[in-house]
Amino acid sequence: MRVHLVNPSDMSFGVGVITPRWLYVLAGCTPRQYGDPHIVDETLEQIDISEIQSGDVVGIGIHTGNALRGLAVGRMARERGAWVVYGGIHATLFPEEPRKLGGAHVVVKGDGDNVWGQVIADCVAGNPLEEYDGGRVEATDFHKARWDLMPTKGYMWASVQTVRGCPKHCSFCSVWRTDGQKPRQRANFPVMEEIVELRRLGYRFLALADDNFYPVTITDIALAEKQGNEARVAELTRLRQERFDFMEQLAELPKDMVFFTQITMEAAEDIEFLDAMRKARIKGALVGVEAVTEAGLKAVFKDFNLAGDGLVTRLKTFREHGVHVLGSFIFGLPTDREETFQATFELASKADLTFAQFVMMTPFPGTVDFQRWEKSFDGQIPEVAGVPITRYWRIPAEVRPKMFTPHPTMSADEIRERTQGVWDQFYSWPEVWKRSNCVKSLKARLAFVLISKLYRQMYANTGISTDSARREKANKMARLIARYTRSLFRAKEMPTLQMPPLAARAGAEHGSLVPSSSLVSLGD
Ligand code: SF4
Repeated sequence: MRVHLVNPSDMSFGVGVITPRWLYVLAGCTPRQYGDPHIVDETLEQIDISEIQSGDVVGIGIHTGNALRGLAVGRMARERGAWVVYGGIHATLFPEEPRKLGGAHVVVKGDGDNVWGQVIADCVAGNPLEEYDGGRVEATDFHKARWDLMPTKGYMWASVQTVRGCPKHCSFCSVWRTDGQKPRQRANFPVMEEIVELRRLGYRFLALADDNFYPVTITDIALAEKQGNEARVAELTRLRQERFDFMEQLAELPKDMVFFTQITMEAAEDIEFLDAMRKARIKGALVGVEAVTEAGLKAVFKDFNLAGDGLVTRLKTFREHGVHVLGSFIFGLPTDREETFQATFELASKADLTFAQFVMMTPFPGTVDFQRWEKSFDGQIPEVAGVPITRYWRIPAEVRPKMFTPHPTMSADEIRERTQGVWDQFYSWPEVWKRSNCVKSLKARLAFVLISKLYRQMYANTGISTDSARREKANKMARLIARYTRSLFRAKEMPTLQMPPLAARAGAEHGSLVPSSSLVSLGD
């Protein structure tokens, strides 16, 4: 019996930008008695189904974007006689879908970390339950990933996680409803252990794959003080201090290491925090800007963001403190007008954004937007290719609409074309070359250009286009650039790297220090 873990994807690029962390964490949760799991990340290469044998256990993680492919993989695995287990946010929200359409024996809802071992044992014994509820695992129970199973040339960025959950409540986002609004912040020591292991393996670029790396704002603490809530002040202050301790420990790692994370714009008010990020070499952050107007921000419950000139100043503050911003914008909000597209491009340039992404408004399951949208049909749900539009992820990609919510002034095609236009403008050769002056040497500037072009190929041309020939061409181009770009991210292995002194001391004080040799047996 063999355990397989599959990250489904229609598109394979040969090389991945960021490691799909869940694959390696679940590998870490797999009891050693079943051997090393066979890991398949289809963003690299498609699965070879002949590797699955009768009696094997196949774990498939799905989200909205890869659900259709995931269901197909599950059916193929079931035909081979394997036990088919689904997990991930999509399976949590729609457990009946894998059962009816994906050949599932089992669906795991919530975090899989603590129940995965039991699921395998029950499959091996021949009597698994139909459903397991993993709930929300406490931060103390987060498992380490099995990085020793990662293909050495697979990814540009490795990823660790320091916190799950986000206290905000944006209407288009499911994180706060699925991962919760209470940040579950992991202790620094196990995170540092993973980081050191990854640097030993030659990964110097690391994503801190958190829902929100800045879970406690100074406003939150001020508010709790004003309310005289001493316990809350103490708790928030502790969480904030742990962030600073973590960043201090990162600063002691080899100087060639670079980190990237996700953060809310409020961090720009907290100069002490930004300066700590700079010292820790957290050089980039994805910031959800979403909209450039006040009305647009209100529409997505994100009025804690600023608009107009205030927005430009706030975004520039990140850059002034050494943090490059990947700004994320949404098009297709009811408040958007024809001029919004050009205004967004201009703002992105004026605010010194290093990268940007422009996504079309999509009601994702688990969000407030999705609930409102589904309700708006009042039971009269139109179908495309025999699938209700409110289950759009099951509509074949070639005929799947790109916009779902009717816009008061623009057609779906117009929004798609204008969105593509902003990608084209932001990632045009002259614009990319201009932005490449954020790095010094010619080699680094060329690398910057390549990465910008790769980003655009992967996320714009393969995602927004309705034309399958263009998607195919973009996929080939992305594969080519990705192969070359991967080598730019690779660093020399450092097999003897030790825990930085601060991290080792903190670990010893908390009784969690383990000899570095035991890092090879992660996941026991
Ligand atoms: S979009 Fe970002 S800030 Fe808003 S709820 Fe989601 S993770 Fe939190």
